[in-house]
Amino acid sequence: MTENVQILPNVKHVFLVLSGKGGVGKSTVSTQLALSLQNSGFKVGLLDIDLCGPSIPRMLGLENSSVHQCAEGWVPVYTTPDQTLGVMSVGFLLGNRDDPVVWRGPKKTAMIKQFLTDVYWQDLDYLIIDTPPGTSDEHISVMENLKLSIFIECFMKLHRTVKCDGAILVTTPQAVAVGDVRRELTFCIKTGLKVIGILENMCGYVCPHCSECTNIFSYGGGESLAEMGKVPFLGRIPIDPKLTKASENGENFITAFKDSVAAQTFINIVKKY
Ligand code: ADP
Repeated sequence: MTENVQILPNVKHVFLVLSGKGGVGKSTVSTQLALSLQNSGFKVGLLDIDLCGPSIPRMLGLENSSVHQCAEGWVPVYTTPDQTLGVMSVGFLLGNRDDPVVWRGPKKTAMIKQFLTDVYWQDLDYLIIDTPPGTSDEHISVMENLKLSIFIECFMKLHRTVKCDGAILVTTPQAVAVGDVRRELTFCIKTGLKVIGILENMCGYVCPHCSECTNIFSYGGGESLAEMGKVPFLGRIPIDPKLTKASENGENFITAFKDSVAAQTFINIVKKY
């Protein structure tokens, strides 16, 4: 209990980004959300706890960066000299980008706990946590460690205006991904985690020539799930081939995102929260 009180004491808001299935764009969404908040003038941390598939360092062109220690703990890797976006990922701790992380539950839990307690974020407006898909060890461990900070934040709410944090659920419009996110929704309800809303990613393809949007997959699954679960629907992000290409080459991702259709969706989300 005493140990838990120290968790993220200088972070005003914590958002988890969840999805029931890999490959739906959870890391992309986490990164876009962090960039949008940074562009809106906030100090942001991006924590990648996808221990088995950390992709954020590559997306942000930080693959060759490594984490340093200071007296207060691990120092995040910053994307700009003004230190407005700090990133921490297991990817920074691997000797080689292709090294697999094959850890069993207790080791994963210990690593997550360390990520939550031993990173020296300094003062943050927002911490975005990119989680692995599913409702596995990683989620339960994060929930256990965050419970108290959620409580602390609610407590602080009594004294000054602090927005409540929670989870953003990412899905693609197809039924399978939506079915998986339904399980995530149940997980959130069971663990008492507030659902900020559902975001539908890779919904339609905007033709770069005529700007017409074609719905390659089925349409509206995320929105109807939001209605069913009585949680907010945050919007739709189309497939943007420029973003796919840029995420392979981090240097361009930030620029590609600024000019993308997705950027407007995120501006609207950030305005609300
Ligand atoms: P997850 O974290 O859910 O496993 P990622 O964020 O790694 O998924 O995305 C999987 C792949 O899909 C990546 O290659 C990424 O660039 C691509 N992707 C995600 N969202 C979009 C989008 N809206 N438009 C185009 N490509 C996308």
